[in-house]
Amino acid sequence: MTDIINSSNGLVPSSVAAEALRDKAVYGVPIFIANGIDVLLADNSKDYTGPGTNTYIVGDEDVWIIDPGPDNAGHIDVVADAVAGRRVSGILVTHSHLDHSAAARGLQAKISAPIYGHGGLSPELLAISEEDIDADFAPDHILKGGEILGAGDWRIQALHTPGHFPNHLCYLLPEQNILFSGDHVMGWSTTVIVPPLGNLADYLDSLEVLKQTSAQRFMPSHGDPIDDSCARIDEIYAHRLMRQQQVEELLRQGQRDPAAIVEILYQGLSPRLVQAALGCVRAHMDYSETRGVSSCQGFNDHDAGNMHVEAGRSAHL
Ligand SMILES: [Zn+2]
Repeated sequence: MTDIINSSNGLVPSSVAAEALRDKAVYGVPIFIANGIDVLLADNSKDYTGPGTNTYIVGDEDVWIIDPGPDNAGHIDVVADAVAGRRVSGILVTHSHLDHSAAARGLQAKISAPIYGHGGLSPELLAISEEDIDADFAPDHILKGGEILGAGDWRIQALHTPGHFPNHLCYLLPEQNILFSGDHVMGWSTTVIVPPLGNLADYLDSLEVLKQTSAQRFMPSHGDPIDDSCARIDEIYAHRLMRQQQVEELLRQGQRDPAAIVEILYQGLSPRLVQAALGCVRAHMDYSETRGVSSCQGFNDHDAGNMHVEAGRSAHL
């Protein structure tokens, strides 16, 4: 296995990180995460999903289900069994990548709960993307971001956080200072940003939105909870700035071919991750264009120095 993300930085290959998580993963039973929060792990481990998709069950007598997961009958049955006897206030979807939303209708057929999400993508957007998108995603209730659902201890706030995906929402539990961060912030890997639906400027803006919340603990849709959310956001921000510097340096040298930039920056990359790396490079090139610069304006040596804090800790594109 040679999925070296960036051997020059000594980072853990993403397939190795995913397999390590899968080795200790427990499928098919609810796992206690915090008071009133259990997770059910879907058995859809891949390079990009770590050990699989986390489906969270949140609350006490009335519960929320966050990210129903992939359209897998076994997983849907396990989730339905886990909430049997409790009222489900809603099925909340972070975004309409297939591994997050595709189980929503199948689960709804079993438990009769409304589906919430930011909305499906327009035919125009669907037509320009080759990502694994749940093209039929159509929530019963559309959230724009900012809405507070429910009441009491388990009220939950939707936050619109585009960047990884246009309709990405995170969900905040204000009483518990916990945020369900979807694919936007994960602990085991950076987030893949693939234009045209992925957008780095939006991604960085959304990181700032999350940093302004009260949440100290993040629960991502793949991988383990993140206990120090501020530190993780800073790590990710520094990593993106580091990549921006690298890409802009190559642009200044006249390099314009994303595939060539990937070869230079991602030495030893597995063929399985080339598309994701190409997406990230294109996102950084787009970001340079929108900022109207061919230099590293705004990205100084101090920012680049921060990248070293993450070395060896997780998989990064
Ligand atoms: Zn996603």
